[in-house]
Amino acid sequence: MHFPFKKFFSYYKPYKTLFFSVLTCATIVSLLTLVFPLLVRYITKEVLEGDLSAALSEVYWIGGLMLVLIAIQNIGTYFVDYKGHEVGACMETDMRSELFAHMQKLSFSFYDKEKTGQLMSRITNDLLLLSELYHHGPEDYIKYLVRFIGAFVILFMINAPLTIAVFCFLPLLAVFSLYFNKMLFKALRENKERIGDVNAQVEDSLAGIRVVKSFANEQIEINKFNRENNRFLDSRKKTYKAEALFYNSFQTIIQLITITVIIFGSANIVNARLDLADLITFLLYISYMTEPIQRLAHMSTQLQQGLTGFLRFMEIMNLKPTIENKANAITLSRVEGDIEFKHVFFRYENHLNNVLANLTFHIHPGEYVALVGSSGVGKTTLCSLIPRFYETTDGEILLDGKNVRDIDLESLRKNIGVVQQDVYLFAGTVMENIRYGNPVASEAEIITATKHANAHDFIMSLPNGYHSEIGQRGVKLSGGQKQRLSIARVFLKNPSVLILDEATSALDNESESIVKESLESLAKGRTTIVIAHRLSTIRNAQRIIVLTEDGIAEEGTHDTLLIRNGAYAHLYSKQFELQV
Ligand code: ADP
Ligand code: MG
Repeated sequence: MHFPFKKFFSYYKPYKTLFFSVLTCATIVSLLTLVFPLLVRYITKEVLEGDLSAALSEVYWIGGLMLVLIAIQNIGTYFVDYKGHEVGACMETDMRSELFAHMQKLSFSFYDKEKTGQLMSRITNDLLLLSELYHHGPEDYIKYLVRFIGAFVILFMINAPLTIAVFCFLPLLAVFSLYFNKMLFKALRENKERIGDVNAQVEDSLAGIRVVKSFANEQIEINKFNRENNRFLDSRKKTYKAEALFYNSFQTIIQLITITVIIFGSANIVNARLDLADLITFLLYISYMTEPIQRLAHMSTQLQQGLTGFLRFMEIMNLKPTIENKANAITLSRVEGDIEFKHVFFRYENHLNNVLANLTFHIHPGEYVALVGSSGVGKTTLCSLIPRFYETTDGEILLDGKNVRDIDLESLRKNIGVVQQDVYLFAGTVMENIRYGNPVASEAEIITATKHANAHDFIMSLPNGYHSEIGQRGVKLSGGQKQRLSIARVFLKNPSVLILDEATSALDNESESIVKESLESLAKGRTTIVIAHRLSTIRNAQRIIVLTEDGIAEEGTHDTLLIRNGAYAHLYSKQFELQV
């Protein structure tokens, strides 16, 4: 596996001083912990076995020294815990910002493929595991290595045979620990999947709460939820069982080691090869050697999870936006709005057939053009090529005579306004949502825009006027109101080119007529492409372009096309029949 180590370690860079201080501190603390059993040994062996009259004052001195060591050790541990986690969290935050910024730049084709929930879990869960690894990884390795080697060397110097006897148990512990780790890892992964299912169930049910209630299907949702909730419980039970088994078995082995030390140690004392103080020292150091082995399992899980998280992070970071600025892209100020398609072909990524084939047409500045054709013929697709949401497969699109591929993306998109059937509003106030069209607009400009969009009056009737919260995705507003806010947003943006894609299709007759009025005023002085399935709404377009599977079938005004009695007349009469 090719692992991007350079990138992995690069996130330490801004925090290297702090990080190395934390590591140094962790090393010092570990070395200090090694001293305690030695001091106990000194007391039992040298002080209490020597001249007892002087012993007490020496014991006081050593007690004082221990207090100082404990103070240093605790301050050190506080620093390591606090600042160490901070380093990890800072690195995680940096990566999260980088990932989010990167996702913002990725193109539509990426979002066509990915699920939002999955992407969210990359931003949250995966990186969380990484911050633990970034901080605990190096620190744990150093801490346990220092303690393990230190304890081994000290014990070896005290009594080599007994040390080797203890050491022989360790491979057993290691194998055991790694085996259980595998089991636990599996159980934990299942836990994560199960909690993911619970979340997905909650998200789906709550997002669709209006549908749930209108079908009076609350109980069905509750049952579905409880099923997931119980599966989560089952998987947790499994984890707890594995954990309990692991820790207890591990403790048993450690107790076996202790018993071995006591028996062999005592035998050695009887044979005068060891003294009592050394035996006590041995017992005190046992955990220094077993604990690192016990933690091995945890550390290997941490490493696996962290590295997988990093690879998942890199998977997204390595994706290039498919649509980017050219090296010397032209920045446009306000365009005239002259649009020309020259032999344009388009096919969606991974699709076999062209949606658009060999389209050629020219729309003049300020012209009001309607695009008609049956559903699925590619009208929306055609329009999304102008702001370069997708790249043409072949041919070129010119805006004011310049190939859109050569134009700076931001300046291109600032010149084009799109009003669609599905309005997306952000959670927040009315004011914030309209200002989205032009973040630097003044309040007065916003009010002018909403007046043009026929939205001012209804906004003023909301409880807090312009400062009313509109709810998630604008649930507190009617379809027509949402559409008028989105129109106000485009008014404020003030683009030269306007695309109205079925903007009134989802509305009832009454809202439709108000919204239509707003749209007409929005279209004034701009090059406008309007798509509407109700042909009555486009009768007065200056030109109608009829799109079929085979390309552009005909062009002309409503009247000329009716007289021609071709594709348009056919569509029109079909709709007319339906309405009768
Ligand atoms: P219209 O707006 O004329 O109803 P569209 O432009 O939405 O048609 O769709 C044209 C064709 O392209 C349809 O067959 C549709 O299934 C397909 N299509 C639309 N959007 C995508 C997409 N993001 N990815 C793949 N195929 C798509
Ligand atoms: Mg469409």
